[in-house]
Amino acid sequence: MSDCLFCKIASGEIPADIVYQDAQLVAFRDINPQAPTHILVIPRQHIETLNDLSADDEHLAGQLVRRAGLIAQTLGHADAGYRTVFNCNVHGGQTVFHLHLHLLAGRPMTWPPG
Ligand code: AMP
Ligand code: ZN
Repeated sequence: MSDCLFCKIASGEIPADIVYQDAQLVAFRDINPQAPTHILVIPRQHIETLNDLSADDEHLAGQLVRRAGLIAQTLGHADAGYRTVFNCNVHGGQTVFHLHLHLLAGRPMTWPPG
């Protein structure tokens, strides 16, 4: 999508601190980190929200979730633990309408979330 911030990061048009990329996915550090490690994992494909995942996207969704876990392991957070979050629409607090999985790590997380 031409005016989507995360599509522009995926294409390289807008710079980001990329920690992983392959043919389907890009992972980069959040510009306003909420934890010592705060990474966003996105599909290159423009999918607006979790509501918009189709049956055809199930493999991609699996890759996205598994990659967040692998990045957490690579960065040394597997044993201490971490949090993964999809925010969806207004009540979920979504502000960028290109599907992304937040990976938060490096400090204890509280529950319930705000
Ligand atoms: P959400 O509120 O779930 O839609 O998350 C959007 C996230 O994108 C927020 O945590 C922002 O800090 C982050 N963000 C916005 N612009 C950028 C950017 N240019 N590079 C990296 N992260 C960004
Ligand atoms: Zn997009």
